[in-house]
Amino acid sequence: MKSFNHTNATSLAEVKTALADGKTNLIAGGTDLIGTLKDNILRTYPSTLINIKTVPGLDFIKEEGGVLKIGAATRLADIAENPTVKQKYTALAQAAFRVGTPHVREMGTIGGNIAQLHRCWYFRKPENRFDCIRKGGNQCFAMMGDNRYHSIFGAVNRCIAVNISDTAPALIALNARVVTDRRKIETENFFDVRTPGNTILDMDEIIREIEIPVPPAGAKSAFLKFAIRKSIDFPIVNCAVMVGGEKPRICLNAVAPKPYRATKAEAAIAGKTINEETAAAAGEAAVADARPLEAARFKVQIAKTLVKRALLATV
Ligand SMILES: Cc1cc2nc3c(=O)[nH]c(=O)nc-3n(C[C@H](O)[C@H](O)[C@H](O)COP(=O)(O)OP(=O)(O)OC[C@H]3O[C@@H](n4cnc5c(N)ncnc54)[C@H](O)[C@@H]3O)c2cc1C
Repeated sequence: MKSFNHTNATSLAEVKTALADGKTNLIAGGTDLIGTLKDNILRTYPSTLINIKTVPGLDFIKEEGGVLKIGAATRLADIAENPTVKQKYTALAQAAFRVGTPHVREMGTIGGNIAQLHRCWYFRKPENRFDCIRKGGNQCFAMMGDNRYHSIFGAVNRCIAVNISDTAPALIALNARVVTDRRKIETENFFDVRTPGNTILDMDEIIREIEIPVPPAGAKSAFLKFAIRKSIDFPIVNCAVMVGGEKPRICLNAVAPKPYRATKAEAAIAGKTINEETAAAAGEAAVADARPLEAARFKVQIAKTLVKRALLATV
């Protein structure tokens, strides 16, 4: 691992100034970033890491004016255990609880969880052994290689790596917004796989908090994840749903380069009572547009089943 400087920031202004030099990276829990540095997979190696966790006032969970606000540096463990989140924003608590391990959840933050980089064994191969499209190269090695954990909904810019954030689909199902130091972004529009950072954030833009509207009376949400292991494992597919509000919201992740809003499944279930039959129909509709490569075909069945089971979990 190459050496770098490390600074504990005391204000957002300090973080912003530091990021402006183009050689500094923001670090929160470091559970994703440090791995990318150790493996030397970033296009440019930062000379300094500026720690946002030491900035006062970025670690909170509170309801205010009809909105749940979660500070960007709030640890996933705190979100998973918070009684209000568990009761009213259930999908998010369940998603945070399923991230990695207790250690990862104690260190990892919600800001870092949605801003983490893609998982693809070619992209993440140590020492940049595969100069893939995501890194500025001219081919996707997964397309011709081992793509069993990759996108089933096609490529974006010819890259089929998937976004594996567990909290992202829950935030999208719950209609959340990402609040940065300069704007509010619907979580659904936050991801942009054409950028090296995987989000639409500018290089010096900082996530300050997440805002989630209080769900309508009677609304219920749920999150389910399928992984090979019960712990320390990334999702093969995950799914979050919110039903009982004005319109159902269903989002899958780890199935496409960015979280996949299953709008056909939402339409299939709209205005209907959720039962075995309607939930199964929504599962079918969710994967109607899936075009998996051979090795990833098994993920279609998993996605279909997760949509069905997540819907039934709200009944
Ligand atoms: C063993 C292991 C298992 C894991 N399992 C899972 C899993 O099951 N599910 C899952 O979703 N993830 C998993 N992860 C990935 C990751 O560790 C977590 O997603 C974690 O939440 C990342 O948060 P962090 O605070 O550590 O981010 P960091 O590593 O500190 O940062 C990640 C990225 O986000 C950016 N960033 C962080 N905060 C902000 C901010 N406020 N504003 C702007 N940019 C910001 C950083 O600059 C960096 O680019 C796992 C990681 C490991 C090592």
